Amino acid sequence: MRRLYTSASACAHHLECSLSGERYDIGRPHGLSRTGKPLMVRYDLDKVNRSVTWAQMKARRSGFWKYRELLPVMNGENVISLGEGVTPLIALRYSVPAGARVVVKDEGRLPTGSFKARGLAVAVGRARELGLRHLAMPTNGNAGAALAAYARYAGLKATIFCPEDTPEINLREMAAQGAELHKVNGLIHECGRIVQKGVEESGWADFSTLKEPYRLEGKKTMGLELAEQYGGTLPEVIFYPTGGGTGLIGMWKAFQELVALGWIRDKLPRMVAVQATGCAPIVRAWEQGWDQASLWRDAATVAAGIRVPVAVGDFLILRALRESGGFATAVSDQQILKARDQVAREDGLLLCPEGAATFAAWKQALEQGMVSFQDQVILFNCATGLKYPLPEGGSCSDCDHP
Ligand SMILES: *Cc1c(COP(=O)(O)O)cnc(C)c1O
Repeated sequence: MRRLYTSASACAHHLECSLSGERYDIGRPHGLSRTGKPLMVRYDLDKVNRSVTWAQMKARRSGFWKYRELLPVMNGENVISLGEGVTPLIALRYSVPAGARVVVKDEGRLPTGSFKARGLAVAVGRARELGLRHLAMPTNGNAGAALAAYARYAGLKATIFCPEDTPEINLREMAAQGAELHKVNGLIHECGRIVQKGVEESGWADFSTLKEPYRLEGKKTMGLELAEQYGGTLPEVIFYPTGGGTGLIGMWKAFQELVALGWIRDKLPRMVAVQATGCAPIVRAWEQGWDQASLWRDAATVAAGIRVPVAVGDFLILRALRESGGFATAVSDQQILKARDQVAREDGLLLCPEGAATFAAWKQALEQGMVSFQDQVILFNCATGLKYPLPEGGSCSDCDHP
């Protein structure tokens, strides 16, 4: 594999408990902190500033490894790349009222067809660097697919547990890419308990969302990339379909780091967490003014990627919403499918249900006066719409015509 850089250029400095601030050695494998909270990578930002300028970083060859001084893979030998490109920004034209400034960041163009590739590329690379060999994960589909692909390409073993009603295409994708796959009669947090047992009994590395520190850093690249694409003046509002919340927390972390480096001005976007009414623990916590969310019972939604009844990073999501002046909002499955059909029909852009949820949430927020018509808005389409069951030809889920 082509070596991109050496450990001398590494700027990742230590790990920090996201609740207590307690420090941990970055040179050894870690899961959660002693208090059971996610660990975050902290960088020597002076060293970053001495090593590279924002202009130099942006001028590098495309793909998110260009941001390597702000990523935790120390040595270019351990970069596991399946060809991650910059994902495009696509302005909606016909599916929004004239004059609205709504742009889709289409993450479906990444390897394995979802933005889970960002997180897993970085986490698997770092796992290899730390000498881990057997990675295990509970998943609703896309994260497992990305883990399977990147683990295989890195020569590591992946064991994956998913709810038995996980979309068939995801199950086949994971199995086809060499993962050991188990279907579980339960939801993702119940799969997580099985992984936990394997960690204790067989020494697997727990690759659950936010239970290792490095997937977050991969997801952070969405924020770095947006800052690059917008040339320093970020959009006003970001709508993000929120399950475990890695992307939302990661982007917020990226913006903080860019501000601390003096690379962008500190007018940051409002972060909006979008959930489905059938599984909305973060929205409930937000509306109740809680610092943490509680388990959502009988979670159900067509948007499988955001069917996450309990998130270990709940307090970090809520904190990012608060700090950014954003909010949390839920939309129904009916609104989601209607949005998916509308954007595809009117703008030719096939969103995944989770991405469609952000469109429905934007429309709803506009009606409720939570965002203004003048706001420049980003909607995250997290996966290619082609991975999901589509309406039959000649019919669509919202309209009367046959
Ligand atoms: C995982 C996933 C999400 C949720 O992402 P988080 O960062 O974990 O909240 C949303 N949509 C799709 C398609 C996903 O696969």
